[in-house]
Amino acid sequence: MIRLKNSVQIAAMKDAGRITGEALLLARDMVRPGVSTYEIDQAIRRYIEKCGATPTFLGYGGFPASACISVNDEVIHGIPSKKRILQEGDIVKIDTGATYHGYVGDSARTIPVGNVSEEARRLIEVTRNSFWAGVEALQAGNRMGDVGSAIDAVVRANGFSTVRRYVGHGIGTDMHESPDVPNFGTPGRGVRLCAGMTLAIEPMVNVGTFEVKEMPDGWTVKTLDGSLSAHYENTVALTSDGVLILTEVEKGF
Ligand code: MG
Ligand code: MG
Repeated sequence: MIRLKNSVQIAAMKDAGRITGEALLLARDMVRPGVSTYEIDQAIRRYIEKCGATPTFLGYGGFPASACISVNDEVIHGIPSKKRILQEGDIVKIDTGATYHGYVGDSARTIPVGNVSEEARRLIEVTRNSFWAGVEALQAGNRMGDVGSAIDAVVRANGFSTVRRYVGHGIGTDMHESPDVPNFGTPGRGVRLCAGMTLAIEPMVNVGTFEVKEMPDGWTVKTLDGSLSAHYENTVALTSDGVLILTEVEKGF
């Protein structure tokens, strides 16, 4: 069942979203060669708690940290570690969430570590652009397939591939609610979109094959062929006045 939100609930989600977005800004500013993914996770946790919120990811399904931090060919669900030191040329995906007054924000960014290859830079940019193409299709009366196909069209036009095994999701008092938000689809198919829907739209884009594999740690997901992957996610609300990007606190990031 899809739980639609009224304007009061969406206002509460905006607060959770702002805290989540601010935690990611703080994380971005820490990214440099020599920093461990553990340090970034700890800073995110401290910031979320300082805001009076709870790190949504910590303990979720047994996940041991407040952020998923995934490097290069790791797609999602990387576990922060003191041993994982960022190197010049890496790309790092930071995905985190905050629960505030019962509502959840969920957002992710891919950040270059120092100077990265032209291909890495383009992958990050195309992934971000594909998210915004999905948002453009997020209109009352459209279908979920319109959103997914808009995302996938941008990815394909740039010669990359869209991960299919993992998808976006409804979000509210729970991090994962109905409906699924695939990053691919058929125009005119799927759930009909309407005002009050709150969704995490999160394209995961690979340079090579769309196929992925899960690591023996039970969490980390990597590209099957070892190619680079990028992720871009915001929690959004579809309202009668259009789309609100609840986790965006700085334009262009
Ligand atoms: Mg996320
Ligand atoms: Mg999500």
